[in-house]
Amino acid sequence: MKSFTPPTRILMGPGPSVVHPRILDAMARPTIGHLDPAFVDMMDEVKEMLKYAFKTENALTMPVSAPGSAGMETCFVNLVEPGDKVIVCINGVFGLRMKENVTRLGGEAVVVEDEWGTAVSPEKVEQALVENPDTKIVAFVHAETSTGALSDAKTLCQIANQHGCINIVDAVTSLAGSELRVDEWGIDAIYSGSQKCLSAMPGLSPVSFSERAIEKLTNRKTPVTSWFLDLNLVMGYWGKGSKRAYHHTAPVNTLYGLHESLVMLSEEGIENSWSRHQQNHILLRDGLNNLGINYLVDEASRLPQLNSVLIPQDQDDLGVRSSLLENYNIDIGAGLGPLEGKIWRIGLMGHTSRKKNIELLLSALKDTLQKKKV
Ligand SMILES: *Cc1c(COP(=O)(O)O)cnc(C)c1O
Repeated sequence: MKSFTPPTRILMGPGPSVVHPRILDAMARPTIGHLDPAFVDMMDEVKEMLKYAFKTENALTMPVSAPGSAGMETCFVNLVEPGDKVIVCINGVFGLRMKENVTRLGGEAVVVEDEWGTAVSPEKVEQALVENPDTKIVAFVHAETSTGALSDAKTLCQIANQHGCINIVDAVTSLAGSELRVDEWGIDAIYSGSQKCLSAMPGLSPVSFSERAIEKLTNRKTPVTSWFLDLNLVMGYWGKGSKRAYHHTAPVNTLYGLHESLVMLSEEGIENSWSRHQQNHILLRDGLNNLGINYLVDEASRLPQLNSVLIPQDQDDLGVRSSLLENYNIDIGAGLGPLEGKIWRIGLMGHTSRKKNIELLLSALKDTLQKKKV
C-alpha cells in the first residue's frame, strides 16, 4: 500500500464544498490535548463565532463532534419525548429523515407535505396546528438540499410560536449561504454542518438551543435516550467557564479547521457571505439559461447555494456527470429519490461560490452537452 493522494477536484455538488487552503493549513497543525487550556480557549472562540454566524446570543451554541445528521439527532433526541406530537414538514429527503427521528423516539409525527421542489406552505402548517392543538414541536428544513428549495423560516417559526410550540430548524445548507437570524426569527433548536456554506471539512455539526428549548430539555420526564448526544452531558465539556470535564475526545484538528473557517467568515462578514452566494447564483443562472438549462424551483424560493436544474431531454444524466468529473475534475450532484435522473444539483457553497468556478463549469458544461447529445 501507498499513501493516498486524492485527485484535485472542484466540488460543485450538494456538499462537501471546496475547502479553502487556509482551512487545510489550520487542520495540519500539531494536535494538542482536548483539555489543554489553549484548546479550551479556542473552543470558546468557536462558540463565540458560531453565535455570530447564527445571529444568536444563545449560550448553548457549539459544534457537535459528528456530521450534520448528528446535529439533527441532537435536536430530536434531546427535545422529543415519547408521546410528543411533532409536526414534520416534508418537501424533500431531509424532512423524511426528521420524521424517522420522531417516530424512532416514540413521538407522534403529524406530516405536512409539500411537493418536492417547492417551499413548505405556512398555510398548511397553520392548518395542521389548528387541527392538532396538542402539538409540542414544529420541525422543518430551511434549505432543502435535495430539491434546492428555500422555505420561509421566519414565518414558519412565528406560526409555531403563536401556537405555543417550539421549533426545530435544519440549517445545514442555509447557514452562511442564506439569510438566517436565529434570535430575531424565534428559532428554538437549530443544527447545521461544517462542509456546506462554511466550507470546512465534513464531520462537525454546529447547533444552537434557545432558553425555551433548554427548558423543555430540563423538564423531561424521561432521560435522553442517546448517551453521546445528551446535551446535559455534552455541556460538561463545552459549557461555560474554564473547568471542563471529559465527555469524549473532541476531533481536535477538525475543530482547528472549523475555527479557521469561522475566522474567515467573520473577516468577510455574514451579510456579505449571504450576498456573495446570491450574486454568484445569478451569474450561474444566467449562464445556464444561455445553455437552455432551466431550474426545477420557482425563482421566489430558489436556493442560491444549491441550484437544482432540469436535465435536458437529449442528455444522459450519468454520462454528463462522469464526463465533467473525468475531463474537467468538476463534481456535480445527482437527483435524489423521485428526482433521480431528472435533475442535477449544482452547489455554489462557501469557497466553491466564486466566479472562476462558475465560468469553468459553464464552459465545461457547454462542451460536454454538445459532445454528449443523444
Ligand atoms: C447535508 C445535509 C444534512 C446531513 O448532513 P451530513 O453532514 O451529511 O450528515 C442534513 N440536512 C440537510 C438539509 C443537508 O443538506
